[in-house]
Amino acid sequence: MDDLIANIEQRLQDVSSLLEPDGLNHDILDAMRALDRADFVPPDQQRRADQDRPLPIGHGQTVSQPTVVAMMTHLLAPRYREKILEIGTGSGYQTAVLSALVHKVHTLELTPDLAREARHRLTRLGYDNIRFRIGDGHLGWPEAAPFQKIIVTAAATAIPDPLVEQLGDGGRLVIPIGDQGDVQKLTVVEKNEAGVASVRPVLDVRFVPLRRSDAG
Ligand code: SAH
Repeated sequence: MDDLIANIEQRLQDVSSLLEPDGLNHDILDAMRALDRADFVPPDQQRRADQDRPLPIGHGQTVSQPTVVAMMTHLLAPRYREKILEIGTGSGYQTAVLSALVHKVHTLELTPDLAREARHRLTRLGYDNIRFRIGDGHLGWPEAAPFQKIIVTAAATAIPDPLVEQLGDGGRLVIPIGDQGDVQKLTVVEKNEAGVASVRPVLDVRFVPLRRSDAG
């Protein structure tokens, strides 16, 4: 596990200009150090859990590469008092990292089996500040809005309007934008205190697609 964290720190040196002015928030590394990624992957992937790469979690989905989890969390700049919306619960690994850093996490997952597995896993591990829902992240979670921060862990073809609407003033959305099967741009959307959004592409990433629910 410590090897994994050291590896992440080293890889993040390569993109250190993105982490300015203060470098990577050490609370994020502490939160990741406290987790065993083997708890979040199927038995046949557990011996790979310490590697800094994405791993299959069933249903054609993956748990993200730890360096990317650290990077996205850094860009989100979570603060303890905040309420965060995560889209794409998957294994619940990113959810667990966020849970350690903020007051409340709302997490949405389109694949019912993954949502149920993640809820059982995180409940068993003792997390008690997470709300789970099965649904299409394109629509967000209007009843619980506004959120100070929103993080999307699957690639959308465009920034979904409802997510920008559900962001509080001064809030921030981190989302990979681009076509499926291609490299996407990890994008930061910031809403200023006057409610005006600005968009900043940050770095190239590769994510599974943010799917449309069949219900439309
Ligand atoms: N954060 C996850 C990574 C999961 S991969 C982890 O740490 O394990 C992306 C996840 O997004 C998958 O579980 C996929 O089922 C889910 N997903 C895809 N389209 C979605 C949508 N429209 N709404 C919600 N979740 C979606």
